[in-house]
This record gives sequence, C-alpha cells and structure tokens, in this order.
Amino acid sequence: MAMFIRIDLKEDAIAEAGAAAKLIEVCPVKIFAAGADDKSVSIIDDNVDECTLCDLCMEASPKGVKVVKLYEE
Ligand code: SF4
Repeated sequence: MAMFIRIDLKEDAIAEAGAAAKLIEVCPVKIFAAGADDKSVSIIDDNVDECTLCDLCMEASPKGVKVVKLYEE
C-alpha cells in the first residue's frame, strides 16, 4: 500500500522532552509504540496510512515529530 504521509522522528528531542509516553497516548490510530526504552518510540508502519492528520503528535512533541505530507512535496 502506498504511504501518503511519512513521519519523521527526532529521537533526541522526544527523549529530552519526555514525550514518548504522550505520543503513544495521543495518536488516535496507534501509530506510535514503545521504543527501545521508555524515552523513545517506534513507528508501527502498518498504521501509518490510518493517520488522520490530527496534529496531536506534533502538539505533544513539536520538536520531535513531523508529519510530512508526501502528496504536497
Ligand atoms: S497526526 Fe494524529 S493520527 Fe497522525 S500520527 Fe500524529 S497523532 Fe497520529
């Protein structure tokens, strides 16, 4: 399936802000999962196409997450 968005993560910024748990909590379609430790997240690729563009992840970690709309690039 073609992806219409890409999610860029800046692990350092997420860890610094302690935003990992928040990201896992806020995404309504469960795109974020626990990472290697409790300061990091991983992306569940199978869920990326379910993104609703709600921006909650970028509000939770403005420096750590960027949802890139591939169709606008
Ligand atoms: S924009 Fe919303 S649905 Fe998409 S990854 Fe972020 S929190 Fe999840």
